[in-house]
Amino acid sequence: MLFNNNQQESIKALDTPFYYYDLDLLDQTLSQAKTAADKRGFHVHYALKANFNDRLLGLIQSKGFGADCVSGNEVQKSIDLGFSADKITFAGVGKSDKEIITALKHNIFAFNVESIQEMEVINELAGQLGVTANVSLRINPNVDAHTHHYITTGLDENKFGVPTSELEKAASVIRQAPHVNLIGLHFHVGSQITDMNVFKSLCVKVNEWKNWFEERGTTIQVLNVGGGLGVDYQQPDENPIPDFEAYFAIFDKFLERQPHQEVHFELGRALVAQCGALVSKVLYTKSGVKKNFLVLDAGMTELMRPALYQAYHKIEKVGGESNNTTLNYDVVGPICESSDCFGKEVPLPESQRGDLIAIRTAGAYGEVMASRYNLREEIRYAFKQNEEITVG
Ligand SMILES: *Cc1c(COP(=O)(O)O)cnc(C)c1O
Repeated sequence: MLFNNNQQESIKALDTPFYYYDLDLLDQTLSQAKTAADKRGFHVHYALKANFNDRLLGLIQSKGFGADCVSGNEVQKSIDLGFSADKITFAGVGKSDKEIITALKHNIFAFNVESIQEMEVINELAGQLGVTANVSLRINPNVDAHTHHYITTGLDENKFGVPTSELEKAASVIRQAPHVNLIGLHFHVGSQITDMNVFKSLCVKVNEWKNWFEERGTTIQVLNVGGGLGVDYQQPDENPIPDFEAYFAIFDKFLERQPHQEVHFELGRALVAQCGALVSKVLYTKSGVKKNFLVLDAGMTELMRPALYQAYHKIEKVGGESNNTTLNYDVVGPICESSDCFGKEVPLPESQRGDLIAIRTAGAYGEVMASRYNLREEIRYAFKQNEEITVG
């Protein structure tokens, strides 16, 4: 259950829909991740794109995580919120000149470079500014992440990274680029990965490519293995915190690293997904010919994952569980699109206009993908910290 009785009372008074963030759970999640990583000397960068809410970022920064950014604005925001520049990385297939310049001026830790052409552009812009850019080469290792095809990124057919067939050329371009300094190799094979064998396969590929570069006389200081660790969308209460210990242990065991080599991670979803929920009110109940509908005041404009990737989120009624009739509902939003549906045939206690519904595990790729489509209201928030609920 998301809320105790007292909390339910305070929640009822709030305007819906709103994102609810449990900062106590976030704190515990971050601590467990940090402990498991520190123990092995691993460096963890938080992938801002999963959620860049200031309150969450403030906590993440204070726990000592670095920042993994995919836009110039994310780089700037990380700096503004106190992340130190030497813990900021910048990835993405389409970095604009302006974004590259922003990152160069802040002297970030490294660019994760996704193509030879991008390497040449960074070299040129760094030269103009009179600086040297540290870069890691993003290699597309052709590892199948066994996840939804929209969130698989490490296959040859994906747009991400340098294909292995071009590495020879990439290495020679780097050698001749005076304003870029190759410090590492970068990999990121997908998201919501729950099969630990995928990470084992990734380690094998990382070892292979690291050796390949070393055989050619290139020193590799950083092995960046990306993010992608999944969370339990089915059972958020049973598994609120991913098994970071098991995750980091895989890399500890299977990555071959020398004492001078650092291992970097870029976790997004695993750190923030479970601390968030989207809380919404039932506007209308409808009985169709074949279906029962709950029409909510939240829609794909607040949480797009179900419409975008057919993603599953656990949907539950807040309070009033004493009613023992369960019905199967299609839970839909108010937006004028048929894909605006949070779940089909969801078993829920019989519900009425005014009841509150929580859509769980919405802390990652939720609020950040919100849009104003249909001229919707701006996102609202509530936060729980030290067991107190406050409106943000
Ligand atoms: C999105 C992304 C991440 C974070 O992925 P999660 O699945 O949220 O852990 C890490 N690295 C890169 C390069 C990304 O694009």
